[in-house]
Amino acid sequence: MICIAVANQKGGVGKTTTAINLATALAAIGRRVLLVDLDPQGNASTGVGVGRDQRERSSYDVLIGAASLAEAAVATRVPRLDLVPATVDLSGAEIELVDLPNRTGRLGDALAAAAGRWDVCLVDCPPSLGLLTLNALAAAQQLLIPLQSEFFALEGLSQLLGTVERVRQGMNPGLEILGVVLTMFDRRNNLSQQVAEDVRACLGGVVFETIVPRNVRLSEAPSHGLPALIYDLRCPGSEAYVRLAREVMGRLARLSEMEAA
Ligand code: ADP
Ligand code: MG
Repeated sequence: MICIAVANQKGGVGKTTTAINLATALAAIGRRVLLVDLDPQGNASTGVGVGRDQRERSSYDVLIGAASLAEAAVATRVPRLDLVPATVDLSGAEIELVDLPNRTGRLGDALAAAAGRWDVCLVDCPPSLGLLTLNALAAAQQLLIPLQSEFFALEGLSQLLGTVERVRQGMNPGLEILGVVLTMFDRRNNLSQQVAEDVRACLGGVVFETIVPRNVRLSEAPSHGLPALIYDLRCPGSEAYVRLAREVMGRLARLSEMEAA
């Protein structure tokens, strides 16, 4: 099982939208996908149609050791896509984890115990670099970073990359950056264009070719409890996420070829 953390400590940059729709696209091409909602706000859970009354076991239970991933996972309306939901308990977890042994390795241990059950695990991280995100970075082989196409897009990135470096030096030497994806791109806005150019100039090939446009269908879909890919497969936002999934699969395939060689 490959684990991809979707992280950026900034809020509202498209982490959850990316996690949901990438997970759906990967499930659609036959992968068994687990989406782990690690944000106390639970937007990924709501966004795939798992309401608060259906969240019996949660990512909180997994982190404190009260449930395995298999016990906490629920099926979604998307075939092959399972979810470990988040509940508000998770907002206390940052503090509770401090006193537990192996406080950054708990998600990783849970994933190791679930080996073979899913092909891909996507972790939707909260907007912080606290213990929840550290658990995701420690558990993942790959990090996917959504960046909003706006003026301060790159601000805060060095802090995230610094955290990645510390994680590599300590708990997870194998952590790689799968890529950076620009989100909420507005074609008619010169600033968006400029930001995209700056980001490419600064980060180069790590930036995905696919740019996710600002598209109201992407923001409407969660209120229907559906991934945009199911809500409206033909909208520009969904089409972008299908292309992104293709790029992700391509990069993963190249990485596993390199490992085999
Ligand atoms: P994060 O998880 O980083 O906080 P979200 O994915 O929840 O970000 O996105 C923040 C808000 O912007 C949400 O209301 C979401 O529906 C909306 N949104 C995300 N991506 C797009 C997009 N490409 N076009 C339009 N709205 C978007
Ligand atoms: Mg989110």
